[in-house]
Amino acid sequence: MTDRSLISRPVPSRRPCLTAVLRMAGLRPTRQRVALAELLFSGTHRHVSAEQLHAEAHSSNVNVSLATIYNSLHQFREAGLLREVAIDASRSYFDTDTSDHHHFYLEDEQRVIDIPSSAIVIQNLPQPPKGMNITHVDVVVRVRKSRG
Ligand SMILES: [Zn+2]
Repeated sequence: MTDRSLISRPVPSRRPCLTAVLRMAGLRPTRQRVALAELLFSGTHRHVSAEQLHAEAHSSNVNVSLATIYNSLHQFREAGLLREVAIDASRSYFDTDTSDHHHFYLEDEQRVIDIPSSAIVIQNLPQPPKGMNITHVDVVVRVRKSRG
């Protein structure tokens, strides 16, 4: 019996796929957007800050300014490719998993991890203001290592 994992195969490029995803989201697939999409969507779901993505871009020789990273992240969010998890006025993470779920914010590590939506029951939401619909409810549970 052969172990298929030992057979080396070329890793298919995700570039054509990401170009199509960007187009379908209504975004022109510029070189920078495709490069950032490759960094963001190459693997498992994750939460990334603009600063983290900027550092990743830099180490992958993708030369983009932090301002461009911010703009792209917000464009991806508006196009529905990312979800923003706002921790406070100056700190946001961008989630590649846009499905309904909640988050723990690990204050000591400044990191966000998922809470499945089924783990939190939200009851007695107030009626939204007249003429408005609730789009979703984000719960951020802030945690810190217990001392002693
Ligand atoms: Zn998440």
